[in-house]
Amino acid sequence: MSRTPLIAGNWKMYKTGPQAVETAKELAALCSDVQDKEVMIAPTYLSLPLVSQAVKGSRLYVGAQNLYFEKEGAYTGEVSADMIKAAGAEYAIIGHSERRQFFSETDESVSKKINAAVQTGLKPVMCIGETLEEREAKKTFLVLDKQVSDGLKGFGLDDLKDLVLAYEPVWAIGTGKTASVEQVEEVHQYLRSLLEKLFESKLANQTRILYGGSVKPENAKDLMGIADVDGALVGGASLDAGSFINIINYNAV
Ligand code: PEP
Repeated sequence: MSRTPLIAGNWKMYKTGPQAVETAKELAALCSDVQDKEVMIAPTYLSLPLVSQAVKGSRLYVGAQNLYFEKEGAYTGEVSADMIKAAGAEYAIIGHSERRQFFSETDESVSKKINAAVQTGLKPVMCIGETLEEREAKKTFLVLDKQVSDGLKGFGLDDLKDLVLAYEPVWAIGTGKTASVEQVEEVHQYLRSLLEKLFESKLANQTRILYGGSVKPENAKDLMGIADVDGALVGGASLDAGSFINIINYNAV
């Protein structure tokens, strides 16, 4: 089965509305010829409607960096999946390690958020990954197994038809340290077989598994060339359209 690669940019808490619109428009123009992959950008909640409007009709998809799992209610400061969808997003990043680390996200809340995304028709980009301590203790597979099993517990094949997994070793995010080709290959193979074990081969074959962690124009070709890697989740290097397009076009040279 062929999987269309997804190159996603997580803009974290960077860029005001006007700045996000400017970069999004620049990127949309640079992506006009990109036919062989999907490109998604995830600005802040505040910029979502502005960016969605600015890139309408282009090849760019827009995503949120998070969502809250309740439909509506007295949850001060939160934003629901419906609100995100209405703002023009098609994707939602869920369970990013910064949310797990700084905002107490658990596999249980990740699961509820995936459910909210699925019910609303948002495509979930579920982030998983081990810390350096866990890798050094040889617990990488154990950690990933738990994150995937608990995060996806109770879902059926149809619920997960648009699922995207993003393997992001915590020690490689924003640190300039990239996982080696061998490390990424080993984990991505493991994750695909885990999906097959937990669900079935159809889901394992169709699910895009992205790599994230200090992806840059200089290493994108090697990382994206790995058999079970179906794209990238990019933080820092996605903030500048000129740098991001060189990652998106990793296979152009
Ligand atoms: C991320 O935010 O998901 C990420 C991978 O960040 P960076 O590319 O900056 O390491």
